[in-house]
Amino acid sequence: MLDLMQLEAQFTAEEILIRDSTAQFVRDQVMPIITNAFEQGEFPTQLIGQLAQLGLFGMTLPERYGGSDASAIAYGLVCQELERGDSGLRSFLSVQNSLCIYPIYALGSDAQKQYWLPRLARGEAIGCFGLTEPDAGSDPASMRTSAQQVDDGWALNGTKTWITNAPLADVAIVWAKTSAGIRGFLIELDRPGVSVTSIKHKLSMRASATGELSFDNCIIPADNLLPGSERGLVAALKCLTQARFGIAWGAMGAASACFDIARDYALTRTQFGRPIAATQLIQHDLATMYTELVKAQWLNLQLARLHDQQQLDPTAISLAKRNACEQALMIARRARHILGGNGISLEYHVIRHLANLETVYTYEGTDNIHTLILGKYLTGIAAF
Ligand SMILES: Cc1cc2nc3c(=O)[nH]c(=O)nc-3n(C[C@H](O)[C@H](O)[C@H](O)COP(=O)(O)OP(=O)(O)OC[C@H]3O[C@@H](n4cnc5c(N)ncnc54)[C@H](O)[C@@H]3O)c2cc1C
Repeated sequence: MLDLMQLEAQFTAEEILIRDSTAQFVRDQVMPIITNAFEQGEFPTQLIGQLAQLGLFGMTLPERYGGSDASAIAYGLVCQELERGDSGLRSFLSVQNSLCIYPIYALGSDAQKQYWLPRLARGEAIGCFGLTEPDAGSDPASMRTSAQQVDDGWALNGTKTWITNAPLADVAIVWAKTSAGIRGFLIELDRPGVSVTSIKHKLSMRASATGELSFDNCIIPADNLLPGSERGLVAALKCLTQARFGIAWGAMGAASACFDIARDYALTRTQFGRPIAATQLIQHDLATMYTELVKAQWLNLQLARLHDQQQLDPTAISLAKRNACEQALMIARRARHILGGNGISLEYHVIRHLANLETVYTYEGTDNIHTLILGKYLTGIAAF
């Protein structure tokens, strides 16, 4: 492994163990099946039990809820290694951990935590997070989904779209407008009035299950409100901040896979009587790719350290998510170019990563939105 800046020395033995066991899982269990899963447009559900066995669900939770109190660095490394396999796999974990387990842990009642967290941590229940709607994406405050108080609880009406894991999920964290503002609700997806449809025809994140959730007068008990969601969208954004942290690390996993594939290819592909790696233009590409990879990985490390010290400003996550996605796309594009015609073949993996990264660039706040968050930090002016 190339490690010019000696990043490895920054990790504890435990973090390295968690990273390496995740990497081995990806090598042995994910790589043999991922091309087919992507081509078929299906999430490989047979991996769910193995992810649970590795202890990756809820890994940063306290042990009493089924977690292992892992550090943010360990969690970041797991996201990086899973996304070396496929962004869809890391998305599955991000949603389960940051957008279902975390909201219940941070915003839920004791009863909600006792019931759901151990089940989610064991992989016996799968979660999803419904914020985006057909007419409300970057501006979630304009959502139309409503929750009206009724005698026996709440009546939900509306549609959430582009929801990762929805077709596989048992429970959704859904954000809806009430008379007192936006609130988060726990919704079991087998309730009457809920319908789930899969979104087809994606050319990105094909190995991830994405769906639409519709609520037609779906009645849920009063207890299904997340009591900590009283701060409305601020509470929802707190969850997204957790997910964006994993994305910043994950994108560099996809990028490092592309870099490694491109470097190996450049060293073995001969044209004009010498390896293409011996040409100055290819070396320029590799040098640029490696520089951005190393910079982003160090940025991620500092992000995780601040996270572990509970000193992380969400704007720093915007900076890292924006940078990681932009640079990962640049690295994947250059890798695709270095592979020539083979760069567009799924057999070489780079085009799959490149296609996936188009989603990673857009979801959990588009590049524009993170630019505006940084712009607000720098100028004090909200330009959304
Ligand atoms: C595969 C996939 C999985 C997803 N998973 C989930 C999930 O699990 N849960 C969930 O809730 N959502 C999910 N999303 C939705 C995702 O978060 C949204 O697509 C994203 O927030 C952008 O919203 P939008 O698609 O409605 O685009 P829009 O908000 O309509 O934006 C369109 C374009 O306009 C730009 N734009 C918008 N407003 C401004 C502005 N003020 N200034 C400058 N530019 C602006 C955007 O940057 C973008 O380029 C997923 C999306 C995809 C593709």
